[in-house]
Amino acid sequence: MKENILVVEDERIIACDIKDCLEKFGYNVPAIIAYGEKAIETAEEINPDLILMDIMLKGNKNGIEAAEEIITRLNIPVVFLTAYSDEYTLKKAKTTQPFGYILKPFEETQLITTIEIALNKHRTEVVMREALAKEKEMREVKSRFVSIVSHEFRNPLSTIFTSTELLINHSSKLNEHKKNEYLYHIQNAVKHLSQILNDVLHIETAESPTVSFNPEPLNLHTFCEELLAEFKVGMSDTHHIVFSTQGKCNCSEELTLNSDSSPLLTKTKLPCLDKKLLRHILTNLLSNAIKYSPQGGTVYLDLFCLEEEVVFRIQDEGIGIPDSDQDNLFTSFHRARNVGNIPGTGLGLSIVKQYVDLHGGEVNVVSKEGVGSTFIVSLPFHVMSA
Ligand code: ADP
Repeated sequence: MKENILVVEDERIIACDIKDCLEKFGYNVPAIIAYGEKAIETAEEINPDLILMDIMLKGNKNGIEAAEEIITRLNIPVVFLTAYSDEYTLKKAKTTQPFGYILKPFEETQLITTIEIALNKHRTEVVMREALAKEKEMREVKSRFVSIVSHEFRNPLSTIFTSTELLINHSSKLNEHKKNEYLYHIQNAVKHLSQILNDVLHIETAESPTVSFNPEPLNLHTFCEELLAEFKVGMSDTHHIVFSTQGKCNCSEELTLNSDSSPLLTKTKLPCLDKKLLRHILTNLLSNAIKYSPQGGTVYLDLFCLEEEVVFRIQDEGIGIPDSDQDNLFTSFHRARNVGNIPGTGLGLSIVKQYVDLHGGEVNVVSKEGVGSTFIVSLPFHVMSA
């Protein structure tokens, strides 16, 4: 069956003629309507591909008024049917920007050609509109990218500039401790810059097929402990991280018997996940939990190892995320309105989402402004012997 065409015509015999003709050419006519108001209601309900609209209709709304609302609000193409070719009616009809006119009495070929032209014109318009929207979105992303990245570069660059200036010009007046402090500031600023660059590169590569998914058997408990140990080295003692595990998250050795009853040591099977991607996911969520929490705050990392799925829960008691921002958190460059002066690019979570998607998993957030946030990452896995 071809497209759905709604016929709005109050003269029953003409309406039935049109329906027969349309069906003969393979179109579907889901309804025949005689009133303008009802035409709007039905169009909204069944969303036809095109509407053939008589200009003179029964009821309070004529065809031109009904078409006006349908075209602007529902974006459904309308072709007018009219027995009046007087200039005033046609001029009025023209203001609604219809997709064509058919004068009554009509000929079959004229009806079908006008409908086909209108359908094509509408299809082209839809494609153009989508392309324009995409281009607009790209332009917005680009300008957000430029403004966020340049803003985020400014602070560390000025730290490097001031610290090096002090070291160069006042070196003789500075004691060892002060010099080390400035060097430490420089090192931190460089680390921050390279983190921003890394995030930008991750975004680029995660969207291209070059980011590969390489699952390997992992001792999840050990993996998390090692990651936390590394993580704590890089952070000053301002926050506590509490780690807990539930379920079988490590490879445990099992003793079974050989056929001759001698003991055989076997290892249980391990979940397969991509180590590199998982490291990135957890580091990002933990850094955020710390970054958006007050000093002295506690961050919880809970690991649940289930039958065919592993769940990571990262919980903080920080600034939380306003409800209005929660839907867009995983969009590149989106930052919530309550971040204040806390640095960031709005890239981390979109990378997390891409890496979780590569695992075929899910990431969700529960957060309340001023109370804290909980990110839950569920990753399905298959198992393999270690
Ligand atoms: P960034 O932290 O660099 O801005 P992200 O993509 O990691 O970018 O996070 C996007 C936004 O989500 C942040 O700017 C912040 O508004 C919000 N957000 C993420 N994690 C947290 C958290 N744990 N607590 C409060 N807000 C958060």
